[in-house]
Amino acid sequence: MSNKIQPTVVLAGGGHTHALFLKKLQQAKVPPAHFILVSASRYTPYSGMLPGVISGQYTAEQSHIDLESLAKQSKCTFIKATLSNVDTDANELVFENGDRLHYDILSINTGSTQSRVIEATDCISIKPIRPFLSWLNQPLPEQIKRNDRFNLFIIGAGAAGVEVAMALHHRFRCFPQLKVHIVTARGILAGHPVEVQKMAAEEIERKKIAIHNNFRVNAVKDNTLFSDQNESLHYDALILATPATPATWPSESQLATSPQGFIQVNPMLQSISHDNVFACGDIAELTHSRLAKSGVYAVRQAPALFRNINLMLEEKPLEPFCPQSRFLSLLSCAGDQAIASRGWFRARGRLVWLWKDWIDRRFMAQFPLPEPGSIKLNGTD
Ligand SMILES: Cc1cc2nc3c(=O)[nH]c(=O)nc-3n(C[C@H](O)[C@H](O)[C@H](O)COP(=O)(O)OP(=O)(O)OC[C@H]3O[C@@H](n4cnc5c(N)ncnc54)[C@H](O)[C@@H]3O)c2cc1C
Repeated sequence: MSNKIQPTVVLAGGGHTHALFLKKLQQAKVPPAHFILVSASRYTPYSGMLPGVISGQYTAEQSHIDLESLAKQSKCTFIKATLSNVDTDANELVFENGDRLHYDILSINTGSTQSRVIEATDCISIKPIRPFLSWLNQPLPEQIKRNDRFNLFIIGAGAAGVEVAMALHHRFRCFPQLKVHIVTARGILAGHPVEVQKMAAEEIERKKIAIHNNFRVNAVKDNTLFSDQNESLHYDALILATPATPATWPSESQLATSPQGFIQVNPMLQSISHDNVFACGDIAELTHSRLAKSGVYAVRQAPALFRNINLMLEEKPLEPFCPQSRFLSLLSCAGDQAIASRGWFRARGRLVWLWKDWIDRRFMAQFPLPEPGSIKLNGTD
């Protein structure tokens, strides 16, 4: 599939960085190249709005980007396919159905999922988001209704776990029998400023969400979680909001990966083992600085990736991506409340929520969105 005259640039995965890359393709003059976006589905979620989708404040369509339309606007070919490996010797992507696609330059932005800390078959991860939303729509409300008391457990108390717990509490607020629980080995929002932890803990307490601190889950049996201290907790439904983990295919390829399996990149976002391969967002791990797996960094990497792919096409030296040490962090507490922090600045309340809502809507306004009703939560698109 190589274009003989123009080099082929393949963007694998329609994450935040690639969505913004495509936007830039519409705005800037670029060296001649054939751009191809490959993604597992036509619609990709925007992380900032996910808690709002779970709580019922946004529809699935409001929180997803229509990649096919975006690619078309950017004069980029869109291919809906799931990547299963990269053959770096042949410069080819390998897809789940066995098809292959040549690249001259490749960028990978396929995101992450939740680590399976436990061997439980009846738990569900918050990522990928669509099966999770489908589960929230369909079996869960029925299960709650059938019980006088229903314990919904979330393992993990990072930003995603805390936001999801509060969003679920809001979504199911008309079910008095529902009790939301957070299980954590390290306390809530570990790594966040202490004042933010305190504000979040107050919100959690106000909502009567139970926190089980210092509970390191090491076994699950018969709807019961067991800790390494032999404590036990009974659950009716179990959700994983554990730390981000990569797909297995990068570590099965020739690409250099971290011990956890993330693709290792240098400051230019270039694979440390293969010069013509870039990686960005959650799937990438910078060797020179350890960044949180967050949509904010995936967004921030877009200008650097765009610049460096263009420089590579022009055969010029690449430039480093310099991550900001401070950025605005907005934590949704559901029910029109949010917490903001940046450097020494902290704020909480309805105005912060309105601010976050404005930022998120403004971000999404630059992209084509799916038609109302077009996202089938469990289906393919
Ligand atoms: C509930 C929740 C709330 C969050 N809230 C925030 C927040 O408020 N702020 C924040 O900064 N971060 C937040 N995060 C974290 C954020 O979601 C991730 O850091 C972010 O989505 C990573 O973006 P990405 O660009 O790496 O990839 P993603 O946005 O995950 O996109 C990956 C894309 O690649 C596609 N793909 C995946 N595998 C393949 C494959 N094998 N082949 C082809 N295509 C593939 C997917 O379909 C998807 O389109 C939240 C996470 C969760 C779960």
